[in-house]
Amino acid sequence: MTAAASLITSHNPADPADVLLEIAAPGAFAAAGTVERARAAQPDWLAGGAAARSAALGAVADTLDAHAAELATLAVREVGKPLTEARAEVARTAAIWRYYAQAPYEPAGAVHETATGPGLLLTRRRPHGVAGLITPWNFPFAIPSWKAAPALAAGNAVVLKPAPEATACAQRLAELVRPALPDGVFTVLPGGATEGGALVSAADVLSFTGSTAVGRAVVCDATARGVPVQAEMGGLNAAIVLPDADIGRAAAHLAAAIAGYAGQKCTATSRVIAVGAALDPLREALCEALRSVPSGDPADPATVCGPLIGRSARDQVGDAWRGLGALVGGTVPERPGWYAAPTLVEKVPAGHRLLREEVFGPLAVLLAADDLDHAVRITNSVPYGLVTSVHTAGLDAALHGLDRLDTGLIRLNAPSTGVDFHLPFGGTKASGHGPREQGRAALEFYTSSRTYTLSPAGAT
Ligand code: NAD
Repeated sequence: MTAAASLITSHNPADPADVLLEIAAPGAFAAAGTVERARAAQPDWLAGGAAARSAALGAVADTLDAHAAELATLAVREVGKPLTEARAEVARTAAIWRYYAQAPYEPAGAVHETATGPGLLLTRRRPHGVAGLITPWNFPFAIPSWKAAPALAAGNAVVLKPAPEATACAQRLAELVRPALPDGVFTVLPGGATEGGALVSAADVLSFTGSTAVGRAVVCDATARGVPVQAEMGGLNAAIVLPDADIGRAAAHLAAAIAGYAGQKCTATSRVIAVGAALDPLREALCEALRSVPSGDPADPATVCGPLIGRSARDQVGDAWRGLGALVGGTVPERPGWYAAPTLVEKVPAGHRLLREEVFGPLAVLLAADDLDHAVRITNSVPYGLVTSVHTAGLDAALHGLDRLDTGLIRLNAPSTGVDFHLPFGGTKASGHGPREQGRAALEFYTSSRTYTLSPAGAT
């Protein structure tokens, strides 16, 4: 969190007296210089060839695996991620680098027949130059990596502007990544809005993940410069539970998706929609499951719901449920650190902010729907469109509903949280803008296509 305009400070959310880092923000001028150094380094990185890029990304994956325990502990301390989840994030991060290490050998284009006469038509994908990456604090290793690895694999240089709250994680990531790469090809630019804005003004392609308000401003500024941009933003995700679902299993999935990492995931469930006769048994099972969520110290491997990232985040969660009469939770535990109890509320008045806005915390609203059509209408009624989970034993009902859900991700009999890095990832409406991230989609985003017409010399 930024303590003053020119200082970046990050605290341990479980023990705010534990300050991890306090450094001067570099400012806009230095940010522009960082982009210029990256631009100077990029042509040699591209010219070095596919084998060199592949080997470098593979070496990064090996280094991250070798430092997995240390990185997980750092994520626990800096962003309050529960240890078991932090370990999973670090393992996934190494796997992401390993997956994209194969990408430089993938076809970079296609060959086509000419419409008439001899010759060849070719397409070839080429990198943009410097990729500017602006990232949130909640996945301090995975999100920077699922942007940086495909950008580098495609031959771009990368400047990463992490969230201030996750600066120590980003700096450690850079220390581990840089030895595998030529100087200037991967740089972390610490800072906040000033440095982020400078990056938006200078990079050749921009990938943003964070809140919708900031993401939309980044999209406008990048578009005004004519620079390709993608933005993955907030969510207000629904879980639909049909009467034929295994209610106990659904409740366990929902509790994890509501309270895991204190609900601080763009894919967290914040609206639970019970269809018809599912309402009463689901209410009972979900209250029980939320009461049983292991909460507290993020360094304990059993913990599922740890602290919120900061005081204002914790206070905002408390404001959101005020006056609603929680079915379970609705309290702020008496202990050092920024905690809030896993919470379920019901009978929320129409138009309440919990039904319109993302609240990044361990709470959800229970809603009733008459039938599947009604549940789909409720799901689609919000400005966001990231992910929906559907819980049912019947494939017919699921398929009937899936077609009409206006979210970028749909998960059947699974928690709304969880991402497969080899498939496209992103949302609709206020949750996402531009091409998808991850998988092969990312390689396309970090390149542009050239069309070559090759005619034989002397051809008429
Ligand atoms: P945030 O929008 O406050 O910050 C995101 C990044 O933008 C940070 O690096 C920040 O320093 C930078 N930034 C702030 N102002 C800027 C400006 N004017 N110009 C350029 N950069 C600027 O978000 P956060 O609090 O770090 O993260 C939480 C949000 O991220 C939630 O809304 C969550 O849903 C979202 N998120 C989305 C996804 C997804 O893939 N859809 C994934 C994780 C988090």
